[in-house]
Amino acid sequence: MANVFEDHIASVKDFPNKGITFRDITPILQDGKLFREATHQLAKYAKSRAADVIVGPEARGFIVGCPVATELGLGFVPARKPQKLPREVKRASYDLEYGSNILEMHKDAIKPGQRVVICDDLLATAGTLRACKELVEELGGELVGAAFYIELPDLKGKEKLPGLDVFSLVQYH
Ligand code: 5GP
Repeated sequence: MANVFEDHIASVKDFPNKGITFRDITPILQDGKLFREATHQLAKYAKSRAADVIVGPEARGFIVGCPVATELGLGFVPARKPQKLPREVKRASYDLEYGSNILEMHKDAIKPGQRVVICDDLLATAGTLRACKELVEELGGELVGAAFYIELPDLKGKEKLPGLDVFSLVQYH
């Protein structure tokens, strides 16, 4: 059966660098019913993991994660690029599919023992996910799942986080 989400993901060759095929989720966001359905499915997953809080990495993780948090009545914690958060932070560095980066979270963003689900648009090498996991755990939270619109299983991101439960709407091989 055709995957309606897949029909609304644009594959852009050689973006942002030659040899990379960028999966663009903005057509899903532009379609109100589909954006809502994607949010419902991720929220259903987060609920099944008994999440207490949703974490989303800058920037597309905000778009994906915030509506999931509001649908479930949960708090949302942004993992931000350096020097964006105004108070004391924890910091983790990570490698991207292209390049490297740093993410920060406010030190008091997660309460000890809280169950956390991370939401983002796409799982590739899992550098972003690992950095978020490190931050969540340093703050005393428990990472109980991760939910994405898209997963690229051939990059074996999941293998870098053995035991972590991962959900995605679309997989590209
Ligand atoms: P990873 O850290 O798993 O290697 O890469 C995932 C992160 O990079 C996500 O935060 C995602 O937003 C971004 N990313 C990498 N490649 C793509 C892509 O092809 N499409 C989109 N939408 N995001 C990507």
